[in-house]
Amino acid sequence: MLSYQHAYHAGNFADVHKHLVLYSVIDHLLRKESSVTYIDTHAGRGRYPLDAEETVRLGEYRDGAEKLWKEREQLAEDPLLADWLEGLAAAQSQQSPKALDHYPGSPWWLAQRLREQDALRLFELHPREHEHLSRQRLADRVRHVHGDGLSGLIDALPVATPRLCVLVDPSYERKEEYGEVAATLLEAMRKARHGIMLVWYPLLPAERHEALLDALKAGGLRKIWRSELTVASPQRERGMYGSGMLVINPPWGLDRRLEDAMARLAPVLGDASCHRGDWWVPE
Ligand code: SAM
Repeated sequence: MLSYQHAYHAGNFADVHKHLVLYSVIDHLLRKESSVTYIDTHAGRGRYPLDAEETVRLGEYRDGAEKLWKEREQLAEDPLLADWLEGLAAAQSQQSPKALDHYPGSPWWLAQRLREQDALRLFELHPREHEHLSRQRLADRVRHVHGDGLSGLIDALPVATPRLCVLVDPSYERKEEYGEVAATLLEAMRKARHGIMLVWYPLLPAERHEALLDALKAGGLRKIWRSELTVASPQRERGMYGSGMLVINPPWGLDRRLEDAMARLAPVLGDASCHRGDWWVPE
């Protein structure tokens, strides 16, 4: 039974982190003409009105996207953040927005930058979330699939385009999901060796993400860059104290670009916030 709804968390610090990494990967991919298939295994609703009852209830975006929005002038001194903030502005309901009224989810960030030659496949298992997503007006070449994104990813490989970029962003409602994600990624990398795969994971006091990271290393994958944003200390926080992203096969230069952007972004989220980027498994 699925109970997680991303609308409760839309625009929080983890979303901002995840979508900045995703944005930066897309940016690198767009430097070449050859076509890309994007696969989003856990798509969610696509775009979230910040005045929705669920989103207002926890108001997590106030400690995430809203803080960045308020500081957008100084953040825009970093070129990657400047572009990302322009993307965020484009997701608002007004043309020259002063206030933030929507937060865009991963399908939106992906669809916005889809070219003629690219394809995008969005998996969402929850019937209501899938229905919300299907109502979004994204690009023409977007395929919506109501179903399991992990088995869907394996079935979709290999893809017809020369390049592949996958986002795996589960809710980790069940602790078995860490192992399922690792097994799926190992299988996916066997079928698509050159694919770029991004995986999000929460940093929680139980540190369950370590099983995921260890399994990828033990499975023999190479070239895994890790980005972790912490906003509180694990000892003091009962809930999520940070957000992690792995990028398998990152484009050259991605690490440096993101480290610069995150160094500027983290302090805006709070005094306790900091970012660490390193190679979980080097080349
Ligand atoms: N990627 C989205 C974004 O960045 O805006 C947020 C995704 S949210 C963290 C996780 C989503 O995965 C939820 O909407 C949930 O309903 C969906 N979900 C859970 N299990 C799934 C599965 N096995 N396959 C596809 N979607 C699933």
